[in-house]
Amino acid sequence: MQNITRREFTRKSALMGAGLAASNFVAFGGTRSARNAELSVFIPMPIQIVIDDVGWWSGDDGHESQQPYRTGISRNHVPADYQAIVDLGKKLGVRPQAATILCEWDRENILREVPTITWMREKWDNSKWVGPWLDEAADIIRNNQNHYELTMHGVGHEYWQDENMTRAEWADSSGQMRPQDQVELHLDYFQKLLNQNQLGPFPTSFVPTAFLHGFGMTGEYKISMAEVIKKRGIEYINTPFSNMYNARGAQFGLFGIDSGVITVDRGEDLLDWNDFGKRPSGALTGPTCGLHWPNLLHKDPSRNSEIVDAWVKFLKPYNDKPETLLAKNSSSFRNQLVHHVCTKVQIREDKIDIDFLETNKLNAQLSNNQLTLKIESERKLTFHLDDVKLSKSKPGQEKDNYLYTLVIECIKDLEKAVLKFEVS
Ligand SMILES: [Zn+2]
Repeated sequence: MQNITRREFTRKSALMGAGLAASNFVAFGGTRSARNAELSVFIPMPIQIVIDDVGWWSGDDGHESQQPYRTGISRNHVPADYQAIVDLGKKLGVRPQAATILCEWDRENILREVPTITWMREKWDNSKWVGPWLDEAADIIRNNQNHYELTMHGVGHEYWQDENMTRAEWADSSGQMRPQDQVELHLDYFQKLLNQNQLGPFPTSFVPTAFLHGFGMTGEYKISMAEVIKKRGIEYINTPFSNMYNARGAQFGLFGIDSGVITVDRGEDLLDWNDFGKRPSGALTGPTCGLHWPNLLHKDPSRNSEIVDAWVKFLKPYNDKPETLLAKNSSSFRNQLVHHVCTKVQIREDKIDIDFLETNKLNAQLSNNQLTLKIESERKLTFHLDDVKLSKSKPGQEKDNYLYTLVIECIKDLEKAVLKFEVS
């Protein structure tokens, strides 16, 4: 498998953003789309929403006073800001990832025990942020598990050496992992804060703070960051490859596998990290729709829904395009992303060949046996599969075209499937 360069990636993404046929771009060693005079078939790229810097109560950007970069908004955060994430998920039928910072959830000042973890070091005092809002927000998170995924971002976001704030918590500014004993300690305290607040088990996904991260081994370490957090249950890392140390090591272009952990290129966000109360515009250029929390919120929290609705309006069409779909949750996202990159389709007369040879090499990344295909045709079609089960065939009609969404239940280790179609 060869890498594509960043420029190629951007070019391909730009084609897609412009709504051009996905058959214009070639996948790694195969095709993720095919067309003939009758129809076009696509293995759509899944899209997942990832929201960074959730968890702060103070909105203050403290980086000029040795404090962390927070969300940089002109008000404190409130439980309604958590509800905004849930509402976005519910309205789109998805489960956004909330990449969470937990230091301001410390009810017992346990972070005094780890001087590198906050700006106050041994004198850490969080009493200001202990109040009923903790339980209110925790209730929102707990009661909406289908539309809210708590993703690990960090404890204090940065790393304090003596009195100095340095970027960032998990890796230094070159992407080299922080001392492993410190990383383990920070992970222990992330877990303790989850427990204090009954926020559920350790997350399975991770967004590195300040996007400082190394793919594979960094510095003198005999272990990669991915492997360290895999031991805690992390299965999935999301970070922009443009900023990742050893991005060339990522084997599959849109993602790489690091010690068995899938690492997905976040690409570029649509808005700046501190854009607050602004509506999204432009086009997504990759599988991650990356936001920072202020991007979803309004200056008046009772009006958060206005910004949420703007995102719903912006994102919904990606479910209706043949080239893309909105993934229901991270596990179906990872599954479809592997298919999008590795599974090949080819049209042969009245048949579509689906080839899983490359996909099967990444079996460990496939969380379920489903593959979603989209088929666009000018004529009404019926489908038939011999060796696999077709669980859904939903026709949608747009102008002169029919767009079918097919969910195929693949049998594990199956090398090939043949989908027959007929004009009805
Ligand atoms: Zn952050």
